[in-house]
Amino acid sequence: MPDLPPEVLTEVPGPRSRELAQRLARVESRNVTCTQPAPPIFWARAAGSNVWDVDGNRYVDLAAGFGVAAAGHAHPRIVAAVQEQSADLLHAMGDVHPAESKVELLEELAALFPGGAGRAGREAGGGARAVLGSSGSDAVEIALKTAQVASGREGVIAFEGAYHGLTLGALDATWRPLFREPFEARLPGATGFARFGDADDVTRAAAELGRPVGAVLVEPIQGRGGERIPPDGFLAALRALCDREGWLLICDEVYTGFGRTGRWFACEHEDVVPDLLCVAKGLASGMPISACMGRAEVMDRWPASEGEALHTQTFLGHPPGCAAALASIACLRDEKLVERAAELGSVALGRLRERLAEHPSVAEVRGRGLLLGVELRDAADAATACAAALRRGVIAIQSGDAGEVISLTPPLVIARPVLEDALDVLADCVP
Ligand code: PMP
Repeated sequence: MPDLPPEVLTEVPGPRSRELAQRLARVESRNVTCTQPAPPIFWARAAGSNVWDVDGNRYVDLAAGFGVAAAGHAHPRIVAAVQEQSADLLHAMGDVHPAESKVELLEELAALFPGGAGRAGREAGGGARAVLGSSGSDAVEIALKTAQVASGREGVIAFEGAYHGLTLGALDATWRPLFREPFEARLPGATGFARFGDADDVTRAAAELGRPVGAVLVEPIQGRGGERIPPDGFLAALRALCDREGWLLICDEVYTGFGRTGRWFACEHEDVVPDLLCVAKGLASGMPISACMGRAEVMDRWPASEGEALHTQTFLGHPPGCAAALASIACLRDEKLVERAAELGSVALGRLRERLAEHPSVAEVRGRGLLLGVELRDAADAATACAAALRRGVIAIQSGDAGEVISLTPPLVIARPVLEDALDVLADCVP
């Protein structure tokens, strides 16, 4: 189905979305969906890079549903895979009596692991192994537990501006006080924070933590922190530091993984092979499945299961999720979407810079592949721009500690003219 450009909309949110917002406010915790003062639009269906709301308005989704729809919304091949798998087997017993699709997905992930470790491993018995989860936070929890098991040390160094999820373990490594403060008493405080982009500061943070450090946890490019790209060489310097100190390097590629930045994984831009690699979002282009992959030597520090897995969950290796991930990976490969992200990304960056680099409200336009950010001097202007773009049929969200960045992470399948039109609409909306 061809992508359609943004259309001029008359009423956003429309009456049906407004009514649903009122009903929702009565039955959902008021902390979840923000319905006041501006109600959200309620999605009815989506295909490719387009979304339709319950009032029939059509949008171009420059967020890819939080970076999930890598192969586009409802890719027919992925939908068919989910439908077929669901009809045969909707649920299995993840760590006890699993489904075949779990094996196939884990083999595929091992083969994709950076540095060819997985491919070599399949022949030589080394390689990469993974634990599956259901969300990005799950993948981070698994990485933190693996680091503890493998190193015997609980301390982790993460970075200012980092976002690793909101479950309690991952939250300990998430930076923003807004998320942490209400729960501070429950957080283990096993994380020290270093300046993002400054490998030397990791040594300082480790010395100050007051606990033995076992791992460094990093997003190769910070996503929710505002599309922040560290200086070249940062990741390689972290790798060298970890090798020197005997620490594990954990790359959180929940946002940057699966082609988003123009490589399968963003760590590959610097030829860095992490010890552990967290993936979710774009892994399955729309099903809730995630993984923590790791080098076999590290993963094998877990004891063999003698009946009780030390980390598992009811829905581990959920068959339709595994089928979706396998189909999504096949789409990325067959449709050359990783290469496409690199090419379209430079088109998008050029276009945004042309339109906005000199704009008085804009501090910086940046991006790698189809992970782009427009940082405004004032976060209120970013909010105004996103709200105005929505009324003109373009979905974009804010990122950054204060919401000062307009985050752009379109589906990797978006048609070039549609992307260009949507970016032009967005640029027109920056006050
Ligand atoms: N890590 C990163 C880098 C993320 O961007 C996110 C989600 N935005 C998470 C972890 C948490 O993922 P989830 O919301 O699926 O738990």
